[in-house]
Amino acid sequence: MKIAVIGAGVAGLAAAYDFARAGHSVTVFEGGPEVGGLAAGFRCAHWDWSLEKYYHHIFSSDRHILELAAELGVEVLFKRPDTVAYHNGGFYPLDSVAGVLRFPAFKGLAALRFGLVVAYLRLLSDGVALERHTAHAWLQRWMGRAAYGAVLEPLLLSKFGEQHYRDVNLSWIWARLKARTPRLGTFAGGFQTLLEVLAQRTVALGVQLQLNTAVMEITPAGGGVTLTTAAGAQQFDKCLATVSPRQLAKLAPALPAAYRDTLLGLQSMGAVVLVLALRRQLTHHYWFNLPKVAGFPFLALVEHTNFVDAAHYGGDHLIYCGDYLDAGHEHFQLDKAELLARFLPEFVRFNPDFKTDWIRETWLFRTPYAQPVPLVNHSQHLPALRTPLPGLWFASMSQVYPWDRGTNFAVELGRRVAREMQLPAG
Ligand SMILES: Cc1cc2nc3c(=O)[nH]c(=O)nc-3n(C[C@H](O)[C@H](O)[C@H](O)COP(=O)(O)OP(=O)(O)OC[C@H]3O[C@@H](n4cnc5c(N)ncnc54)[C@H](O)[C@@H]3O)c2cc1C
Repeated sequence: MKIAVIGAGVAGLAAAYDFARAGHSVTVFEGGPEVGGLAAGFRCAHWDWSLEKYYHHIFSSDRHILELAAELGVEVLFKRPDTVAYHNGGFYPLDSVAGVLRFPAFKGLAALRFGLVVAYLRLLSDGVALERHTAHAWLQRWMGRAAYGAVLEPLLLSKFGEQHYRDVNLSWIWARLKARTPRLGTFAGGFQTLLEVLAQRTVALGVQLQLNTAVMEITPAGGGVTLTTAAGAQQFDKCLATVSPRQLAKLAPALPAAYRDTLLGLQSMGAVVLVLALRRQLTHHYWFNLPKVAGFPFLALVEHTNFVDAAHYGGDHLIYCGDYLDAGHEHFQLDKAELLARFLPEFVRFNPDFKTDWIRETWLFRTPYAQPVPLVNHSQHLPALRTPLPGLWFASMSQVYPWDRGTNFAVELGRRVAREMQLPAG
């Protein structure tokens, strides 16, 4: 078959690799200048490793991406970096039983109720049935107001904002608790290394990888599809689009209204991530969960070089200030200097000695589609992988449900859709 893949992110590349290994003629169209999509990295001249634009790690339970890395011979490194959460002016560990028992926000039996409910959710093997509850209502009921309000409510509120946090379903919490492991992993050289090795392997198998080539329209043509780019139109037997649901609705106006409505009905949030290279270490922790109600202008501070050795980055200490926001939020409009002016005054809360002259360089990354928001009964509102347009298939972060978005699930989805597209009736 002559197959097109739109998008050279993790899902698109994993699918293209399997199509090529099965002997199909494959073209990958990528609108950006490099492969990797949301997991892509960048590199300063004096760094040996690349740094993900958006903070990334994998869990030791992420078997699909671990299998792919093993197939490609890319080394995976695991560590147990720490996570702390803010409470009343201090930061406290929350990633172990001992940490939970000592977390000062818990009063009375709250830590016990928190632990029991978390253990119960982790024991369930399938979380989809939980989707009929909102996390907010169910956790208040079973964990109790005190335990829920101490940790999970501030986290949900910071992550999904006042607008969405009460509506997120319980399956999302289940998926987060189920997949999470204390050991976190990355790839030698950074995620970009894995993605480049994957891209090189696909190209070596004969795949045409066209970077800087955005697909502008997808139209039905006989049993297949025609893709239009700035260079002209090309016809394919099958096409896999790995763009966002909103982008697909725009690219393929011939999609029937019901499918387009499903795409446009999916809710998601964007991400705003400021990255700083410092001359000195800011903190001794990897990950800080920050409640917005305590005045933090971002959701997480991540000191990447407390996870990956600063020696791989020429001694730079790398900090992410990350946040998930609706695409209309003003942080999508402000420029980097304006965001720095809002963020930097908070840095003394992490280290009272912090001075702005520690900063060597800064970068700003923003994307409108970063975090799907799964609502009650979400499984009934998911777009099918096989669209109603003959030959057109769709795989995006929103469809890895009940799992939360992640490179592991992008690999699983990309490989699964590639298998389904090759079935005789596919
Ligand atoms: C802030 C943040 C933190 C994250 N943290 C983690 C983490 O710690 N661990 C983890 O595993 N995952 C993490 N993720 C999620 C992970 O990055 C994604 O799940 C995964 O990269 C999605 O891959 P994808 O291929 O589905 O989509 P994408 O990476 O979005 O790929 C889609 C590709 O399509 C291209 N494209 C779009 N439109 C067109 C067009 N018209 N023509 C051609 N090409 C087009 C895009 O340029 C892009 O390259 C994080 C994501 C974000 C935003």
